[in-house]
Amino acid sequence: MSRLFGTNGIRWLVEIQSSDYAIRLAVSAGNFFGPDKRLAVGMDTRLSSPMIYNAVLSGLNSAGCSAASLGVVPTPVVQFAVRGMSLDGGLMVTASHNPPEFNGLKFFASDGTEFSKSQETQFERVFSENKMKYAAWNRVGTASEENDVQSTYRKAVISLAALGRDITAVVDCANGTAIGYTPDILARMGCKVMTLNAQPDGRFPGRMPEPVRENVGTLMSTVKSDSADIGIAHDGDADRAIFVDENGDYVQGDKSLALFAVDALHRHGKGIVVIPINTSRTVQDAVESHGGTVEYTAIGSPGIARCMMENRAILGGEGNGGIIFPEHQYCRDGMMAAARMAEIVSRKGALSGLVADLPEYWIKSDKLGIKPGTGEAIMARVRDNANGKVTEVDGIKSETEDHWWLVRLSGTEPIVRVTVESDSEAMCDARLREKVSEVRDIIQSLS
Ligand code: MG
Repeated sequence: MSRLFGTNGIRWLVEIQSSDYAIRLAVSAGNFFGPDKRLAVGMDTRLSSPMIYNAVLSGLNSAGCSAASLGVVPTPVVQFAVRGMSLDGGLMVTASHNPPEFNGLKFFASDGTEFSKSQETQFERVFSENKMKYAAWNRVGTASEENDVQSTYRKAVISLAALGRDITAVVDCANGTAIGYTPDILARMGCKVMTLNAQPDGRFPGRMPEPVRENVGTLMSTVKSDSADIGIAHDGDADRAIFVDENGDYVQGDKSLALFAVDALHRHGKGIVVIPINTSRTVQDAVESHGGTVEYTAIGSPGIARCMMENRAILGGEGNGGIIFPEHQYCRDGMMAAARMAEIVSRKGALSGLVADLPEYWIKSDKLGIKPGTGEAIMARVRDNANGKVTEVDGIKSETEDHWWLVRLSGTEPIVRVTVESDSEAMCDARLREKVSEVRDIIQSLS
């Protein structure tokens, strides 16, 4: 049985897998959830999304499931609808931050969280067995347009953030699903809002939808030239938000995650913050210096959300701008992150100053190709060589006095990733070189 899921849902190239693939996935989803169930379905702004969305609705209906059709919405709105409307699950047509030629599907359980690993495996079994059950002629599902939950969602975000003073924000919507959400939410909170790439366009003419530094140069220069207090950049399906300070400088996602964690500790006094094993030490330092503790999980937001529920955590998130606010919902939410960061800046001062107060680390990574099937043996050898404090939450992580390293197999490609972090750049570079060379030797000896 082959893996369909990556870190967040299933992705594919539309030229290779088209409507028939989407229908098969949706019929499998219908079989997975069972007949007579009701699911929320949304889509992003990609050119192929309406085609796949219609295929998904058709597939679900043919398996006897009904759909609350949300149209173009951010992914967190689908998750909000699942819980708010007491549905049995949800599907989002999106390839998130991938280039325009991709599309994909994200799957949500009845509590609105992304599928757990065991639900993914169970779904993959249903899909690969290919014994689809279709509903009888009088039991096929229906799709009804749902237009109320979107405004309920906006109100829910606004109710959880309030500005301390008026601020100006520039929002880069990436021609994606944040349009109609983040700018509107911030304006109703009292922000002066300017927008970039705020026309839905699945060719992504403004910028590629991943909010990395090289894609948000216009946002950085606009924040500076227009003397804004903050810049906000979303990915295509708006479950992530990345920030730019008032000087137009890009704020690394690990740093904004640390600021959200400190803010949560100010609100709660103490508590647990859940972060994946590859997160910068900046976050742990910031959390501990404000009286909190961190809990490390495997990489990927589904595991973070579940660990947060188990530990009653006050915040969780990833260094890529995906932040989970449990008082709102147990999923990454770019709109909630934007609203909360606007509040933080309006109450605590300039973003550049808040970032400058955080400890500075250098984190770098590299990847090496491996022969399929050799992964386990490679990891066993890496484990044998590991010194320092070793953790095996996801891959093998070793912490020593002056650095940590993480060696991890990719879930979807025949590669191994090596990540190193240290408080000096020279040390980081040197330790990364050493570790990569050690892992390369192991790979060669096993090939
Ligand atoms: Mg995304």
